Amino acid sequence: MRYAAIMNDRYRAAARSGIGAVMGSKMLKAIVVKGTNDIEVADIEAYMEYVKRWHEKMLSHPFTPNRVKYGTTNLIELMQKIGRLPTYNLRQGIFNDYYKIGGETIYRKYLIKPVADFACLQRCGRYTAVYNEPYRCMGGGPEYETLCSLGSRCGISNIEAILYGNWLCNNLGLDSISAGGTISWAMECYELGLISRDELDGLDLRFGNEEAMIELLIKIAYRKGIGNLLAEGSWRAAKKIGRGTERYVMHVKGQEIASQEPRAQKSMGLAAATAARGADHLYGFPVLDEVGFEEEIKERFGSQYLPEIANKLNPRYKGYMVKECEDYMVVIESVGVCKYGTQIPPVFYYDDIVDALRVTCGMDVNVKRLKLIGERIVNLNRAFNVREGISRKDDSLPERLTKVPAPIGPAKGHVVELDQMLDEYYRCRGWNLKTGKPTYEKLVSLGLKDIAEDLLKRGLLVRKASGG
Ligand code: SF4
Repeated sequence: MRYAAIMNDRYRAAARSGIGAVMGSKMLKAIVVKGTNDIEVADIEAYMEYVKRWHEKMLSHPFTPNRVKYGTTNLIELMQKIGRLPTYNLRQGIFNDYYKIGGETIYRKYLIKPVADFACLQRCGRYTAVYNEPYRCMGGGPEYETLCSLGSRCGISNIEAILYGNWLCNNLGLDSISAGGTISWAMECYELGLISRDELDGLDLRFGNEEAMIELLIKIAYRKGIGNLLAEGSWRAAKKIGRGTERYVMHVKGQEIASQEPRAQKSMGLAAATAARGADHLYGFPVLDEVGFEEEIKERFGSQYLPEIANKLNPRYKGYMVKECEDYMVVIESVGVCKYGTQIPPVFYYDDIVDALRVTCGMDVNVKRLKLIGERIVNLNRAFNVREGISRKDDSLPERLTKVPAPIGPAKGHVVELDQMLDEYYRCRGWNLKTGKPTYEKLVSLGLKDIAEDLLKRGLLVRKASGG
């Protein structure tokens, strides 16, 4: 199936864009890594001092206690409050039954223990259990993303069914975001009469039908009946079915949009559109305006951009913000640090990474150099995509989000002003405004002359930025 996950540490999923399917296509079942040697650090005393400082900084942030208590599950409550909780296939960002599927319910009734990745004091992972039939299960998760994808997005408020769906996704190796995105698309098409009950193997696929959702997850994993088509993902399935179903696919570059209603947070809309691997909230992860980290925004981006940059409903300066966040996030991925702690709460920034690299690896890099590395990685990603035919036309969002105003909630009346934000983003990147491609000069200035020459030879690059 197309959106297969690579499962690791039993319940953790590297799932987006179906990299498990890539392993499957190579007949690769698993990779086992076992280490026996000690891990050495460059300066053990400075390292221990650094870890202590890092812990103190993290523990003293007001966001941390709730992260330990709820993991990411209470984002359901937080996102409901700002109208950013995708509901009914992103028709709206408000789910009336949100409290039934939120962090408080899970904490009180289903949580066995918080789970941490090695030595992490945030412990955002969950270990939960449902003791009742028919959804008896026990295992890792859920995350906010799954609660939303299999919950509000599908109009489902039966938390035990959602936990069981999460358990199924983990055990069957499905990306729960794409699974929920595909099922909610099918639900909307069914309700609109665009897909018939016969085509759905007799399933009454209304929004809110948890039994149908569970059955579909199994059918998808085993490619049985309608599951064979839905295992292709909503974008490919809609192309095959036609009949106007394409209009209801909530995707970017063929990948289902994750659990962010971008009409209620414009930066997330832009970040989904520009992410290198299709809709991906983690590529730029611009969450600083989400719950108003004004101080950190001021520190990172400059007070001259306030108040607009901190206003999640204002498209102004979001191009700049997303560009900066993308550059930073690819650095974070490269050094192997978790994105929580760097963005939400936004405790650590470039200075801290410079220190970490010095005490652990003995590397002597400064902030300027790290920023350059980040920008270079993003440009390299883009150059790869340009070679594969990607341009501005693909940095898009579904019309529902750019043309149809949010019907209720704090974002009522808002659409995503994508073109305006894209112009600003490309300008900040030094890319061509019309095509969204890096210019020859930009790539050369980043030390990527060989890449620039290659794209030029293929006729995929222009040499001067136009319109900006
Ligand atoms: S490392 Fe990150 S994902 Fe893992 S438990 Fe800590 S905060 Fe959560």
